[in-house]
Amino acid sequence: MDENNEYFFNIYYENDERLKSCPFCGSEAWLRLEEYPEGDIWYSACCMESNCCGWFCNYETKEEAIKKWNERI
Ligand SMILES: [Zn+2]
Repeated sequence: MDENNEYFFNIYYENDERLKSCPFCGSEAWLRLEEYPEGDIWYSACCMESNCCGWFCNYETKEEAIKKWNERI
């Protein structure tokens, strides 16, 4: 992490039926999109249950984030 750089980005959540439920708690998993000002978007799959730490970051494509998530089930 470069401490001189502050990152501002928008976060969106998207439901995607291709995502399997969370391997840790069984809750629904969502796609998390980080949109940076330069136009970069990073995709993660994450669990929406706040007590659960089930998430995998950060992939360049939605498909990869979904695939990696589903592979861990
Ligand atoms: Zn979970």
